[in-house]
Amino acid sequence: MVTPTRFPLLARNALACALLPVLLALPAPVWLPGASVAHAQPAGLPDLGESSADELSPRLERRLGEAIMAQSLTDPDYIDDPDISQYLNTMASNLSAHAPSDTQQIHVFPVRDASVNAFAMPGGFIGINAGLVVAAQSESELAGVMAHEIGHVVQRHVARGLVQQKQTSIIMVAALLAALVAARGNSQAPEAAMAFGQAAAIDAQLGFSREAEREADRTGFQMLSASGYDVNGMATFFGRLMALSSVNERTSTSFTRTHPLSIERMSDMQNRARSLSTGAAPPPSPPDFYFVRAKLRVLQAASGQDTIDAIRFLESRAMEATTGIEKAAAYYGVGVGYLRRRDYAKAQEAYDKATSGARDHVMLAGLAIDIATAQGNADKALTLSRAARERWPQQISLAFDYADALQRTGRHSDAVVFLNEQISRYPDQPRFRQMLATSYGGLQQPVAERRAMAEFYSRTGAMSAAVELLTQARGMSKDFYEQSQIDAQLRELQRRVKEENDMLKRFKS
Ligand SMILES: [Zn+2]
Repeated sequence: MVTPTRFPLLARNALACALLPVLLALPAPVWLPGASVAHAQPAGLPDLGESSADELSPRLERRLGEAIMAQSLTDPDYIDDPDISQYLNTMASNLSAHAPSDTQQIHVFPVRDASVNAFAMPGGFIGINAGLVVAAQSESELAGVMAHEIGHVVQRHVARGLVQQKQTSIIMVAALLAALVAARGNSQAPEAAMAFGQAAAIDAQLGFSREAEREADRTGFQMLSASGYDVNGMATFFGRLMALSSVNERTSTSFTRTHPLSIERMSDMQNRARSLSTGAAPPPSPPDFYFVRAKLRVLQAASGQDTIDAIRFLESRAMEATTGIEKAAAYYGVGVGYLRRRDYAKAQEAYDKATSGARDHVMLAGLAIDIATAQGNADKALTLSRAARERWPQQISLAFDYADALQRTGRHSDAVVFLNEQISRYPDQPRFRQMLATSYGGLQQPVAERRAMAEFYSRTGAMSAAVELLTQARGMSKDFYEQSQIDAQLRELQRRVKEENDMLKRFKS
């Protein structure tokens, strides 16, 4: 999890500071599952799920997680990169497909933070710090940590921890309310950017028990081994983290503070790995791992100087690389770094080095498109992204690139058709709806534009912005059938806004 020292709870903006004293002065939130829930839920409050004396209901837990996630989309520490998200979530679904029991759907997201850490939020959301991926020496090591986090989710440690600690429940409510308050307005508003601080504080408060850590190890190990990763991955990575934190207090990783490691845990992991190990050399990590790791080394940079340092590091890595893949991935990272520095000539040079010997990779294709786009060469970006999509039809980032190139070259009708296909294929990618709105705008279709944008807002938690746009669309529409569709959408949205307002009122009074 993210350390609360770096992201102080609710301290990132004025809205939060104004809310905090009120919230902390509140009595224990009676509607959260706990001692007195069943009879204490006041009339008019939304039914947030069946209350249980010892467990947060999965539905409430998911709702809390979604409220925080909706806000985190605008958090500057959220890394909005479809390639990285797709890589991490593919890994998570490979692992959780082998979970010993039914589990919540897992959603993994990357966080712009160079400290070595990962954290489980309520509702099956798992944050992975860039620094953790950068510190991993193989894909199986990364999978080992992710399996451990999924282990916490499978065992429902977040939910159980929340109801065991009254103090934490108050923080949860604070987090939920702050998220909802922010969500009532435009999700692009700067005060929305505070979600991770809360998620982090919650996770810090939980401080999983030793028993919970062992359970997560055990469950995680089963998933790791059943999904075909090197079974030594977990022990080698945790071992390195433990060595790091004992050698130097300053580099003590956040992960080892929040998931305390012990000699006992380490030997359990090693024994499990030994019992399954075939003695054969572990399989090499796939190219994706090296490319994702190189990109995150650049994206974790918090300043221009950090970016330059990352470029220097990757340049020396490229010189020393022993395999072609590692060399190509390092040059790829160099190219991403120079692109961020807006040095297009150097970015192109790094791309050329990465692709020498006819080497290709889907993320290299993405880099070439990004360079062309940044240079204002939309025709080239269109040609490149069309070709890349034929080669890698499953890559979501290329669908974004292609739609973007269609728009930049003024092909809005084609973009509308294409984006609607992508929306049915990937309903959980709100950015396609935002792009669809742009293309309807380009085609002078204001009603469709507002409806698409309202969908985007409602899926990213900005309910009032969604209501506002739908109301405008309703006023503009001349079509009876369309009007009644919009009315139905408005009723549903207004119901959700009222639900949230009621909740706020309850805690403000
Ligand atoms: Zn843990």
